[in-house]
Amino acid sequence: METKKKDIRALTKEQLREFFVQQGDKAFRGNQVYEWLWSKSAHHFDDMTNISKQTRDMLDANFVINHIEVDAMQKSSDGTIKNAVRLHDGLIVESVLIPAKNRTTACVSSQVGCSLDCKFCATARLKRMRNLNPDEIYDQVVAIDQESRLYHDRPLSNIVFMGMGEPLMNYNNVLKAIDKITSPEGLGMSPKRIVVSTSGVPKMIKKMADEEVKFKLAVSLHSAIDEVRTSIMPFNATFPLSDLRESLQYWYAKTKNRITYEYVVWKGINDKRKDVDALVEFCKFAPSKVNLIEYNPIDDGEFQQANNEALDMYVNVLEKNNITVTVRRSRGKDIDAACGQLANKA
Ligand code: SAH
Repeated sequence: METKKKDIRALTKEQLREFFVQQGDKAFRGNQVYEWLWSKSAHHFDDMTNISKQTRDMLDANFVINHIEVDAMQKSSDGTIKNAVRLHDGLIVESVLIPAKNRTTACVSSQVGCSLDCKFCATARLKRMRNLNPDEIYDQVVAIDQESRLYHDRPLSNIVFMGMGEPLMNYNNVLKAIDKITSPEGLGMSPKRIVVSTSGVPKMIKKMADEEVKFKLAVSLHSAIDEVRTSIMPFNATFPLSDLRESLQYWYAKTKNRITYEYVVWKGINDKRKDVDALVEFCKFAPSKVNLIEYNPIDDGEFQQANNEALDMYVNVLEKNNITVTVRRSRGKDIDAACGQLANKA
């Protein structure tokens, strides 16, 4: 039986340099191969044209290059593109390209399925199968960047971790992927153009703050009242709002980066004045802004987008309290590519 070869992209640059030294070659060879693996996204050792055939064969005998395949691509009437991405073990995740006037955003997945149990989210029904590796996250970004150049004549400009999964429950790999995305040896993108969106894992928010990360943080809040939040996001019972609040204050104190709260207003769930008042109070704890996002139906009607009156009330009350609020429309709904609709349906 063939022994399982190691994925070469699990090695750091330093480890790759050491490997070549052990082989009696120059450490510099490690730099060359590293560049092929990351900034040039080579899928085969034979693509590495400045590496000798003998060395390529040696690499092939020792390692594999796991890479993703875009299995199916769907285009929405609004220009949004959804990729079903096949991983090396056959599992599928989804990522989305969202074109807008001045930017092109990639929405990427961090896990196959999700371990959280948000009642309004289609991904929650898939359960968590495994974490994505850094290269699998990175490759989604590369694929979207290529599509952006091909279909929209411009490179990708922004990345949001709002696809499948909870990024802070795959923290190490997400950070490693962001490292590659932002490093000049990878894609060289600015961390300021990356948003990590979390349901709110207080311990990990503090850890990120300690590490003084440079990307932006979004929190899917949806309610600032514990009882209501727990009813729609049951893990809130384990990570209550008081802990979340404390971690966000810590985040702001360390990073000076304001926080975005993502918030859907649902009929009969959080559309009353007391809900807005609680949100206003929550927003006062750390500089923040609110994105009111449209609900993308995934079920038989248990959740319904609140009416415009309720949305207007939210906007008015927030603005009166000097809290920045934006109302965002969904993109790619016709192909199930909008927030919370990623469930490997196509
Ligand atoms: N786990 C992370 C990232 C994935 S969800 C998080 O919770 O932030 C990305 C965003 O889509 C979150 O704000 C989430 O609350 C929102 N969302 C989930 N289901 C939705 C739906 N059906 N309609 C609109 N937004 C939804």
